[in-house]
Amino acid sequence: MIILQGTGISAGVVIARASLARERPLPVIEAHPSQLSAEAERTRLDQAIALTLKQLKKLRGKLDSLPDEARIEIDAMLTVYERMLTQSRLVRAAHQRLAEEGLTAEAAVQLESDILAARAGPQPGMPEEEIEGARRREGEFREVARRLLRNLTGVSFRAFSDTPSGSVLVAEQIRPADAAVIDPNRIAAVISEGGGATDHTAIMLRALTVPAVLAVPQLAEHVEEGSLVIVDGSSGRIVINPDSATLDEARSAMAEEARERKGIGRLRRLPSRLVSGEDIELLANIELANELPLLHRNGAAGIGLLRTEFLFDESEPLPDEDGQYEIYARLVADMDEMVTTIRVLDWGGEKGLARLRQLGIHDTQEEENPALGVRGLRLLLRHPEILETQLCAILRASLVGKIRVLLPMVSAVNEIQATRQIYERCARRLRRRGVKLPNELPPLGIMIETPAAALTAGALVRHAEFLALGTNDLTMYTLAVDRSSAMGSDLYTALHPGLLKLLRFSLDEALRAHRPICVCGEMAADSRSVALLIGMGLRSFSMSAASLPAVKRMIRSLSLEACDDLYRRAMLLEDPIELTQLVRDFAH
Ligand code: PEP
Ligand code: MG
Repeated sequence: MIILQGTGISAGVVIARASLARERPLPVIEAHPSQLSAEAERTRLDQAIALTLKQLKKLRGKLDSLPDEARIEIDAMLTVYERMLTQSRLVRAAHQRLAEEGLTAEAAVQLESDILAARAGPQPGMPEEEIEGARRREGEFREVARRLLRNLTGVSFRAFSDTPSGSVLVAEQIRPADAAVIDPNRIAAVISEGGGATDHTAIMLRALTVPAVLAVPQLAEHVEEGSLVIVDGSSGRIVINPDSATLDEARSAMAEEARERKGIGRLRRLPSRLVSGEDIELLANIELANELPLLHRNGAAGIGLLRTEFLFDESEPLPDEDGQYEIYARLVADMDEMVTTIRVLDWGGEKGLARLRQLGIHDTQEEENPALGVRGLRLLLRHPEILETQLCAILRASLVGKIRVLLPMVSAVNEIQATRQIYERCARRLRRRGVKLPNELPPLGIMIETPAAALTAGALVRHAEFLALGTNDLTMYTLAVDRSSAMGSDLYTALHPGLLKLLRFSLDEALRAHRPICVCGEMAADSRSVALLIGMGLRSFSMSAASLPAVKRMIRSLSLEACDDLYRRAMLLEDPIELTQLVRDFAH
């Protein structure tokens, strides 16, 4: 029996045989002249392009049946591929090579895509924060070329349809496009050596609700075709060739899950209330308007975090005040009486780099470590015209429904003061333009996501009308572990005594100042951690819409006493491993 630890991406326990997904290699493509005429090669290339576009269209046709989150992810990716196949540099240059050099269509595609991929990919001396985006663009060229070459040479794609039904798909790397063709009714689980918790493939797999564990070190060395594997998508544990006791354990975990799943559908309309009677507010984090149907289906009581940095199409210019107003107003109208918490742009770190480049903003690109520098509110205060446009649009949308405004990456009182001045100036300007804003503006709140903010929450909260605990970044900055790195993923845990102390400290300050406080990092999507946080005294949680039913179910089965007891026991522990174990074993 071999136990490997990866990153749990999508929950679910599965026992099944491994099926190794290997791609049939393409033949080596040499750049020798074609036997055919340039015209004939051009026809071959055009036919391959047409066929590739048709295949992409077919893939797009499957999107309707996918959950919202997955559909949005794949839709954007397919648009990029389609653009690369129609009047793109790649196609133009390949045509030119056929005409001028008499090459085969395969060689022209290979040569041109290699050049474009190398140009788009990471360059020596490129700032760290640009590397991921560059890799993605390089990957896009290679993927389009791979598709064209397979169609030209007739070597079929890796077909997951060959994977025996009910098996665990084992791959070195799963691309987002691969995830798109995974049929969750046939593939029991997905495990791979590459990938991290926050990449696109992970988001897709979660949206497809296929149990998945990524970033499993040495997976290829240990797993063989047909090996019996236990996959635990929550804990990230993989057991290869399990002994009978381990198998029995996994079987009972699966039975328990099946019982849970049955109950979740019925839960949506039931109140989010502890058995001891206390109401717990459950809100959703969203990035795109298309997520609203899922949010409503899963019964969110409002939007606890709208990440506006993902809201606008980066291939278009940033919408002006009117353009932003329309987007916010539509969203807020859809939420009816429920609150929409709009967070102003959290650019910087790994977010919004293309947009910053487009706007000619270099503050973060010039930094050695952008996660530790000019990011979030700090960046907006250096470019107040962007903040003003956004705040004006939000204020106007507040006439349509209930809005709160949230500020990311706050670490000092002066930042809130400076923002409030801009906020009030925007309101004055709008009133002069005849916009009838009420005397009391929508609440202005702050994210607590740096240790500095948590430790000075008492001062910050006097200047803010509500607090939101961003456990994703707070964990990263407290533990000094990158939240998106596969290498550090076993070190990255919110269940660390240091983090709990910071949360408790912030909570106490909010309660003392009578200010609402909510948790809106991923910790809120883990129901056992939510139990711990309820024991700590928190009553409001915002999470990805997909996680709402499971969290609500847990809440409805818990008493406040059980949560208190869990929290008391947690506070006695000094090590993250013990703490994680305690929370994981929490049975109510
Ligand atoms: C957080 O840091 O916990 C958070 C909610 O913000 P984001 O994940 O958008 O950085
Ligand atoms: Mg954050």
